[in-house]
Parts: sequence; C-alpha cells; structure tokens
Amino acid sequence: MTKFIIGNWKMYGNVTSAHMLIEAVAAAANARVEVVVCPPATLLTQVTGWLAGSKVQVGGQDCHAAAGGAHTGDISAAMLKECGAAYVIVGHSERRAAHGETNAEVRKKAEQAMAAGLAPIICIGETAAQRKAGQAKAVVARQVRESLPEKVAAGRFLLAYEPVWAIGSGKTPTVSDIAGIHAHIISAAARETGLAPERIFVVYGGSVNAANAGRILATRGVAGVLVGAASLKAEEFVSILRAAQTAAQDPRRK
Ligand code: PEP
Repeated sequence: MTKFIIGNWKMYGNVTSAHMLIEAVAAAANARVEVVVCPPATLLTQVTGWLAGSKVQVGGQDCHAAAGGAHTGDISAAMLKECGAAYVIVGHSERRAAHGETNAEVRKKAEQAMAAGLAPIICIGETAAQRKAGQAKAVVARQVRESLPEKVAAGRFLLAYEPVWAIGSGKTPTVSDIAGIHAHIISAAARETGLAPERIFVVYGGSVNAANAGRILATRGVAGVLVGAASLKAEEFVSILRAAQTAAQDPRRK
C-alpha cells in the first residue's frame, strides 16, 4: 500500500527557505510514496511552480467552510485548487483550539474541499485530559462521526489521528496504542461511510521524526504520517520519506 508523507509547515518559512526545502524533497520523492507539502498560503503558488513535473503534491493548511463570500482574510477550497493544491488539512487541533472550530465546521470544510476537487486531510485526536480520563477512543469516534462529510468516496479523503498532547511535545503514543486507536478509527469511519475498512486511510501525526518514523510507518493501520516540525528540516523530512519508501518496498509490511 502507498504510504502518505505529509509535511505541515504551519506558519513558518519564506521564499528562500521554502525553495531549499522543496529542492531536497523533490529530489528524494519517487512514485512509491505520496508526498504532500502544505506550505503557508502565501507560498502555495511558488511551491507548486517549483514542483511542476515532480512527484510531490501540494496541500493547503485550512480552507473556509463556505464556497465564497464576505470572509476577510479567509481562503476557499477552490482558491487552493487554483493555486495547484491537491489536498487540504482541515480540523487541525491548533485551529480547533485557537479558532474554536467545531466538528460541524470541520465537516463543512471537508465538504467544500471535496466539492472543489481537493482531498481533505481530516484531523482528529484527543487531548491529554481526555486520554487520562480514558476517553480517547470515544472522543475520536465522535470526531469521525461528526467531522466526516455524509457522502465520501474511497480515495477522496484521509483521516489524520493526531493526539493533541503529542503535537510538538516530543511525546508519542506507543506503537501498540497507535495500532489500537487506528483500528478503532478505521472501523468507526467504515461504519459511518459504508466503505470497506481497507479503503479508509488513517495517517498518524504528533512528534514524528527521523528516529521514530520507520517504527510508526510499520505499524498496522498506519497509512502514513503527518509531520509538523520535522517537515521543516530537509534532512529530517527526507529521512522520514526514505523510511516510507523502504516500508512500501517490503511486502511483509502493511
Ligand atoms: C502537526 O502539527 O500536525 C504535527 C504533527 O506537529 P509535530 O510533528 O511538530 O508534532
């Protein structure tokens, strides 16, 4: 199965640093792995231009829940598409926390993304307090139920399991935790969409780096990784990409 390696640059980067990063990533990419970089919106057009003819895809970091309108400062899914994006992250925990985004809003964003021809990367994940209270599985199942658009087709969306406490903290769940929760998310999403479980792709995100990527990518139910901080360092992101290329080559790994 093709693995997805997705870099979320957040609000970092300028033309010079982005160009250096893109050159390294494009040189390392091959057809075995789907690589997606999600730069800040201001760099999208330049990044898609630099990537023309390469195997690397581009994604936005967010889109508005409406197709258009008087929304100063916002960006629609169609605008991202016009810049050359193929994906868009929706419902990232930083947006849920800082912008008060609800599951219902995330669902509308995902619907707009699909209507514009983008694949939404729908982020879900429990907080530290929810995990401590033993609610992680219930929280993600509810997020799946409420954030996934009603009608989705296989291959048109990804789910990203990103425990909030793992983002930017250097902490990760154990691989057996990841396997357990991914299985839970896959069955919740299969129930919700009517799709076969093997058509549901869930990537893991939260403190992925060159040292732990191979282990995480080899975990059952992990379709790839969503990488924040480490996606801004060319050497580190390329190492993660190489780990995915190795995993994709090994017929024993799923
Ligand atoms: C993220 O913000 O999506 C993320 C996974 O960040 P980090 O890799 O830095 O934990």
